[in-house]
Amino acid sequence: MNPAYTKVAIVTGASRGIGAAIARRLAADGIAVVVNYANSSAEAGELVAAIAAAGGKALAVKADVADPQAVAALFDAAEQAFGHIDILINNAGIMPSKLPPLAETSDREFDELFAINVKGTFNTLRQAATRLQAGGRIVNFSTSVIGLALPGYTIYAATKAAVETMTNIFAKELRGRQITVNAIAPGPTATDLFLNGKSEELVERMSKMAPLERLGTPDDIAAAVAMLVGADGGWINGQTLRANGGLV
Ligand code: NAP
Repeated sequence: MNPAYTKVAIVTGASRGIGAAIARRLAADGIAVVVNYANSSAEAGELVAAIAAAGGKALAVKADVADPQAVAALFDAAEQAFGHIDILINNAGIMPSKLPPLAETSDREFDELFAINVKGTFNTLRQAATRLQAGGRIVNFSTSVIGLALPGYTIYAATKAAVETMTNIFAKELRGRQITVNAIAPGPTATDLFLNGKSEELVERMSKMAPLERLGTPDDIAAAVAMLVGADGGWINGQTLRANGGLV
């Protein structure tokens, strides 16, 4: 297709929510984008069409990040389409709409959270270790709930704590490759993941917790990602940035 494209990004979980906003933003910044998704093929297709209509370059690729073979195929598809990979945004993640205390969390819920949030991030990082270009950028996804320590979030927050740890140690393991590895830890952000299963009152209360007194938007988070992967983010490495309006 166009191997000459300057920068190429894989955005995992880009069919909806924060990932879709990141894909749109990076495409607008002149980066060719691989829009990864697991189930929402219609949404991923619509996003790719919208990016193309706006003059950008994008390709939708289905892959469950929890599956190492599918992740290898995702990187293959990106290289085939655009020639090289410069940026990996590990945005795909899940959070159950019902947040049971640890004592009431089932084996299935625990395993699914770790399979997607932790193993999924590991799977893409392992590919990125050998397949990202020098000068590349990696942004992982954590959560500000690690700082808030809200009851009910134990296992979800534990998966993201694992992601934060992989972030700063992996940054050091990539010494010599000129690749930065950081994490973004959003606060409550208006997407299905946050809104599903919450009453209007709870959403209203949580939206007022930050001193900026509103929920984050997917575009707020995409702007922070764009900074980390852009020219101005080059000296930030091995860090977790809490993008949450001052919540914690
Ligand atoms: P969302 O609206 O639920 O969207 C999740 C995206 O991830 C979808 O595109 C979904 O694709 C994809 N996905 C889920 N499982 C996948 C898998 N196994 N393989 C590939 N893609 C998969 O979530 P969001 O709010 O945008 O969250 C994005 C990231 O931000 C997550 O890591 C989340 O933990 C983190 N975060 C969110 C908030 C918040 O308040 N929203 C706060 C802190 C952190 P399909 O539809 O195709 O399945």
